[in-house]
Amino acid sequence: MLELRKIKSYLNYHSRIYSHIRFKENIVVIESDDWGKNANNPNFDFPNNIGTRTDWSFDQLESENELEKLYEILEDHVDSSGNKAKLTANFIVANPDPQKTKEQGYHTVVLGGIDENKELLKAWHSGMQKKVFHPQYHGRLHYNSELYLESIKSNSTAELLFNNNVNGGLENFVESQFEYYSEYQNHKTNALMVDAQEWVQDGLLEFKRIFGFYSKSTIAPNYVIPDKMIEVLSTAGVKYIQGGNKMIYFNSGSQKYKNYALGTTLKKQIIALARNVKFEPCRSKKEWQVDFCKKSIDTLFRKNIPVVIDTHRFNYVGKHANRSRKCLSELLDHITTYDVRFLTSDELGEAIGNKGNYKNAFTGEVSKIHIIDNPLKKILRNWVS
Ligand SMILES: [Zn+2]
Repeated sequence: MLELRKIKSYLNYHSRIYSHIRFKENIVVIESDDWGKNANNPNFDFPNNIGTRTDWSFDQLESENELEKLYEILEDHVDSSGNKAKLTANFIVANPDPQKTKEQGYHTVVLGGIDENKELLKAWHSGMQKKVFHPQYHGRLHYNSELYLESIKSNSTAELLFNNNVNGGLENFVESQFEYYSEYQNHKTNALMVDAQEWVQDGLLEFKRIFGFYSKSTIAPNYVIPDKMIEVLSTAGVKYIQGGNKMIYFNSGSQKYKNYALGTTLKKQIIALARNVKFEPCRSKKEWQVDFCKKSIDTLFRKNIPVVIDTHRFNYVGKHANRSRKCLSELLDHITTYDVRFLTSDELGEAIGNKGNYKNAFTGEVSKIHIIDNPLKKILRNWVS
């Protein structure tokens, strides 16, 4: 039985690699999650009796200065068509407001707009004007609001953290890191969030209000996206799902995965994108460091598979920022030794769905890249969806 499962997973893996949509050009997309999210409060001293802090507990809201330094690196690296390196910045569009939540008797987690910080709003728009920073929609809270609220009401440590602006409270500790997992599906009951359609629509409208355009792509918080959410997101106007190679859902109490090839057409004609280079220089794994990523990129270019880099905001803020920026610069130096085309996630999605044609996300100018595909790959890709 175990052997059979191993064979099945081997075949799935290889048929997925084989069936990725490819392009004549060397494509590079840089996807980065969690922007705008007020993570830990760097001015709060974590009491040391709560537990072991996770790596993620050092994530914090980006500063204007950190953004400007990141933009400089992106601007320094230009592709063969004259585009600067573009970062698709996936945003959490709201942050909990502890004071209002308390005032309203913990009836709900009250959310405030991320654009209340006018300096940051200016800095995000500056990245857009420089054509290096392209916001897309990540989510509204990143946590399951029901589980989060329950925890704040019933656990004094969770309440203390919440009131001190440590967003994600108990999830900042190894012992309870999946406590509020995840925005769209409750991992304890497997239930889809109540009013998911309204929740997502409001979030996308908030995104439009802040950035001035609709987000065509998204990546679900923690990659948790049960099938039903694909329909919900499509109804709300999303056309492309980032990270389609790792879509998590919960069923009968266990965590399950769906893994789609790049370019798979899912329900409601939503196109799945796929991440294939994990670049997290601030974390310890050797596969996530610059040297390993360079080799992966060489291999992907050889196979004409678009390089889609997964690199979280966490790398570029706080204590990790200096080193990670140097690593990013080194990675981009390597990438730009090739004849390469930088795209945003939604540009890549549009090109896949529109015979290689796409509108530049910053200028609206129409460009084309050249698809390499065959009917067998297409059948294999879409067969599983
Ligand atoms: Zn995230």
